[in-house]
Amino acid sequence: MRKTFCFGGSRLARRMSERAPMVDGCVFCDIARRGPTSTTALLYSDDKVVAFRDINPSAFRHYLVIPIDHIPTVNSLHKTKDDHQLVSHMVKVGKDLLNQDAPNSEEHRFGFHQPPFNSVNHLHLHCLALPFMPSWRQVKYTPLGPLGGFIEAEKLLERIKPEAEVYS
Ligand SMILES: [Zn+2]
Ligand SMILES: [Zn+2]
Repeated sequence: MRKTFCFGGSRLARRMSERAPMVDGCVFCDIARRGPTSTTALLYSDDKVVAFRDINPSAFRHYLVIPIDHIPTVNSLHKTKDDHQLVSHMVKVGKDLLNQDAPNSEEHRFGFHQPPFNSVNHLHLHCLALPFMPSWRQVKYTPLGPLGGFIEAEKLLERIKPEAEVYS
C-alpha cells in the first residue's frame, strides 16, 4: 500500500502548515532532500536552498527556488535576520540562474504566491524569464495590490526586513 494512505488528510494538512526540518508527504521536501521518489533534476543546490524547473512552466524560463527546511508560506516568515537572509539568498540564486540561462529575456520577475493562492504548502520563489507562455498565464504572476495572490520578492523583503538595531 502506498505511504500516502497512512496519513489522515487533516493530520497531513496540519503538519504541512507548520515549520519543520521536513514533512513526509510534501513533494517539495522530497525534492529538497533528494527523497527516494525524487527524479527532479536540480539546477542549483547548497545547504540552504535548491532550485529546479517548474513542472508546469508559464514562461520562457520558469524556475522555482525553495528552502530545504519546510517553511509553509510567506505568512510563516518573520521580521528576523534569518528569514530575511534566507529570502535574499533565494532571490540571488534565482537571479543568477536567469542571468545565466535567459540573459536576453525582456523581463525577469521574482515572487511568491500568498495563501490561499499558493499551490504547494512549501515556500517557493517563482523565477520567471518573460515572455509568458501562453500569455494569459501572466495573471497568476502579476501583483494586483495587497489582496492579490502574487507578491514580488522585493516587496516581501521589505515586509520582513528586521527592525533596525539601535545601539546606544
Ligand atoms: Zn515541505
Ligand atoms: Zn506558486
